Amino acid sequence: MPQVRSNRMKIERLQPGRGIRSNAGTMGVAAVTLIRDGDQNILVDVGHFGGRDELLQAMRAANLQPRDIDTVVLTHIHWDHCINVDLFDRATILAGRDELRLGYMMGIKDGHTRYFKELLKKIGVRSVKDGEKVSDNSRAVLTPGHSPGHVAVSIKEDDGSTTVIAGDAIPNYRAYLRNMPDLIFYNKSDARASVTKIKKMKPSMIIPGHDSPFNDKGYLLHDEFNLILRRETEENSIITLKTVPADKPVDFT
Ligand SMILES: [Zn+2]
Repeated sequence: MPQVRSNRMKIERLQPGRGIRSNAGTMGVAAVTLIRDGDQNILVDVGHFGGRDELLQAMRAANLQPRDIDTVVLTHIHWDHCINVDLFDRATILAGRDELRLGYMMGIKDGHTRYFKELLKKIGVRSVKDGEKVSDNSRAVLTPGHSPGHVAVSIKEDDGSTTVIAGDAIPNYRAYLRNMPDLIFYNKSDARASVTKIKKMKPSMIIPGHDSPFNDKGYLLHDEFNLILRRETEENSIITLKTVPADKPVDFT
């Protein structure tokens, strides 16, 4: 039976991004997003080992195995976005040119051990230029500042609207409102220019690195997130964090 080729674009959040820090260190949970563009499966970021099982589970739920992924775009090479890259040994791995040149070849603040840098060199990451096609309907958007060669991904949806997977160029809604990511590891004015660059694309949805999707009107989705603390008793302490879409009343319960 001949394979039916669909041109439909679909974006699925395999792992919602969350921003959690603690006095015991960061618990970075980066967004992992799947783009299905025709017969191409593209992952934007892959997360770290703390979410490895959850990622594989989400992929199974989407009827995908790691070998089904054709392309992985690493928005940048901070650990929370890319450690699981070894799962995708059949995929072409893409990252921004200066991320490779400055981010790990010179070993500036990229948050990695040298062993991980060696792995990246071994698996052969290909560098992308600004505007370069990732798939038929998605492109790399160079958005440096947070890191030297950060890339976002812009997607032309079937209805003509634009979705931007922003990574840590816009890690959360707060960064969008203040025109600056929380953390700058490379260059502040580049970081501001990158936020402006994404805004100029007038995206109907931004999927940030560490927050729920939003646009200029506010959050688009309700995300609920439980922090579970083990107690000495059989009961856990659970702290629930929520984002609330702009058109919904705020519920603090
Ligand atoms: Zn980062």
